[in-house]
Formats: sequence, structure tokens, C-alpha cells
Amino acid sequence: MKRRHFLHRAGSLVLLLGASDIAWGATIVAVRVWPAPDYTRVTLESDTPLQARHFVTSQPDRLVVDVDGLELSPTLREIVGKVHADDPYIAGVRVGQNQPRIVRLVIDLKQPIAPQVFTLAPVADYRHRLVFDLYPTVPIDPLMALIREKEEAERRAQAALDDALGEFIDRIGRGNHTAPPAVAAAPNPPASRRSDAEAGQRSRVNRLIIVALDPGHGGEDPGAIGPAGTREKDVVLAIARRLRDRINAEPNMRAMMTRDADFFVPLRQRVEKARRVQADLFISIHADAFTNPNARGASVYALSERGATSEAARWLANKENAADIVGGVNVKHSDAHVLRALMDMSTTAQINDSLKLGSAVLGHIGKIGRLHKPRVEQAGFAVLKAPDIPSILVETAFISNREEEQQLRSAEYQDQLADALMNGIRRYFQKNPPLARNRQL
Ligand SMILES: [Zn+2]
Repeated sequence: MKRRHFLHRAGSLVLLLGASDIAWGATIVAVRVWPAPDYTRVTLESDTPLQARHFVTSQPDRLVVDVDGLELSPTLREIVGKVHADDPYIAGVRVGQNQPRIVRLVIDLKQPIAPQVFTLAPVADYRHRLVFDLYPTVPIDPLMALIREKEEAERRAQAALDDALGEFIDRIGRGNHTAPPAVAAAPNPPASRRSDAEAGQRSRVNRLIIVALDPGHGGEDPGAIGPAGTREKDVVLAIARRLRDRINAEPNMRAMMTRDADFFVPLRQRVEKARRVQADLFISIHADAFTNPNARGASVYALSERGATSEAARWLANKENAADIVGGVNVKHSDAHVLRALMDMSTTAQINDSLKLGSAVLGHIGKIGRLHKPRVEQAGFAVLKAPDIPSILVETAFISNREEEQQLRSAEYQDQLADALMNGIRRYFQKNPPLARNRQL
């Protein structure tokens, strides 16, 4: 690891001299902007650590950052073009040499923000990172987002119904006695027909079931990368969106996505979002990777109260739990200690339900693809630690396997996986009907 780092430094020195760039101070190796409804992150990656001061202004709303020991460079200037018009927080970025060795970034804002500015030490393929997280002053509440989404869906359904009835009345008026047109109550119709037995079972459930879907990784954390360059964070988001559409097409179910864009969400926040909406289930979606390119097949994991059920499960849990380090969590941020207490309260009941959910899902995935492990494995996955929500982590396939990487990229296989997960969820609720519960929805 040390040796590779040294090579990186040597490489950038040569590049630096060749580009007749500055010969002292830090060199920016990359700039990245990750816009999302929750917050927008700006990352400056450099060969040596950067020090920065910042302040915010109102009227107009701006974040001003002064970075020490830095000269303006073409790489740094790239940041201007990396802001998208639809960024929820950033209207534009200007960058200039404020004083010798001090670069000033002026971020023009679309709304007031509460910024978090912090540095990250080199990890994985990254060197030193200076991060600005631009949070709204009033944080996005996943429950309010879910309510708004539900109202929007109801409005769309009502509009579709009105249109259809209007058309039907027109036809009757013209003496054309056809059946009323079918009305799509949701943007995406259910993928498969349910059996009568299932329908009977389902009708007994008269409250809204909320399923938290957790596409792994995102933003600075790409997750595993396949031999053809496919990123885990992209395929798992695509699969989660397909599953979300299936869940939302059910009359009594709603999906809540812990992320619906390419941005980093700390593991604890994923759990917290699910608890905020009182989710009935939590399903984290991933794609596996292993040093042996022949490893293949799907696996499903639940939390373990004590040790891992196998060395492989322990290895995987460690790997997935490292997402926060790669993605870049602000360790100084205050809510960490509140959540830590919460995280230690995993229960036997939660694990038992998670194992039932896991088996139901595994059974259906086994019908469409190969299984890596024939039963649900257990280990200390941080993301599965909601004490009161049955939670599983699904490794859909091995992205490190050439053939499975291709499958993961295909819309057809993503649909099959979403169908299998949906069938697993239905099967779980057939056998374990949700308990009555007062909801704010
Ligand atoms: Zn993963």
C-alpha cells in the first residue's frame, strides 16, 4: 500500500513538471461535484492535505472557501463546468487566485445552506480529499418526501380516472357502448399476476406497508467495479428503481429509497431513514466482488447477533462496512453518538424475521439465477442494524465475474431480479402478515 502511494506521488510529480504547473504547494488531482436532493457534495482531491477556511453570506446566498497553499490550475478550473443546471443547491462556482498561494472558491447558492467542510485521509484509490457538503438549513425528511410522493401518485391516478371517465361519457354520448377504458392507477403496472390465494391473503392487510430500499454505495463510493468497468453503485440503483416501481404498483405498498441519485449516504443514515418512515422491511441491494473471477451467484445476508456464520460472510461484512470510509463520512458531525447507542440494540426477533425474509427472497432469486450460497448467511453488517425492522442485504450477483457483470448491466436481468425480489417480499408477507400499526401516513 505504501509503495503504491509512493508511485502515485512520483507519477504526479512528472506530470506536474510536464504541464509546467506550479512546482510548490499542493496539486489538485481531481474535482468532483455530487448533486442530490439531500445535499450536494464538492470534493477537491489533492496530492497533499489541503487546509481551508469558509464562510457563508446571505443576500445573495454564497459559500466562500479559501484554500491555502494552492495555485489556480486547469484541473481546479474544471469545477466550473461540473455544476449542472439542475443542482438543487449550487447555481454556479467561480474560482480565482485570491492571494499568492490562496485560491478562493465562490459557490453561488440557490437556497441557504448549512455547510460541513472536512478533510479525508487517503483511502482505496483516493488521495487527500477536501470535502464541502452543502446541506439545506432544514434537512430533507424522508417521511415528508414519502407523503408528498404518495399525494402526487394519488393526484396522477385521480387525473387518469377523470380522463378515462370523461372519455367513457363522451362515447356513451355518441351511442358507442364499449366497456370503460382501463385505468392505470400507478405509473408502472404490476409486473406479474397474483394468484387468488395471494389476493385473499393480501386483502386482510388493510394498512400501508412501507419497504425501505437501500441501493448500496453511491457518490464518492463506487462500490465494486467489474472487469468491463461497471460500477456497483450504478447497477444496484437501477435494480432498486425497478423494484420500487413494482412495490409502488401494489395498492397497499410504498417504497422509500435511501438514495435515488448518485450520492454518498452514510450507513447509519440509511438505517435512520428507514426508521423515520417506520419501514416494515429494509432491503439493501449490492453486487459482490471477489479476487477469484470465477466466483458467481447471488447471496442473501442477515445480521448476526454474535459472530459471523462463515469467514466469507465476515469478510464481506467488513468490506461493505468500509463504505463509510471510502464514501467519506464527516466523523465530527454530532449525531454519530446518538445513533451509536441505537445501533447496539439488535434483537433476536429482528434477526429471526430477517432470516424468514431472506429465505423467501433467496428462494425466488434461485429461480432466475445461480445462487452463491444456498441459505441465508449472517454477519455484522452495519446497515442491517435497525433493531425493529427485518433487514436483509442482497448480493445480486458477482460484478467481478465477466458473465454476471454483463447480466447486471442488462435491463432484462435487472427486471428479473426486481421481479424475484418482489415475489420474495410478497411471499414473506403471505406468511408473516404485517401487524396493525398507527402510521402518520
Ligand atoms: Zn456493496
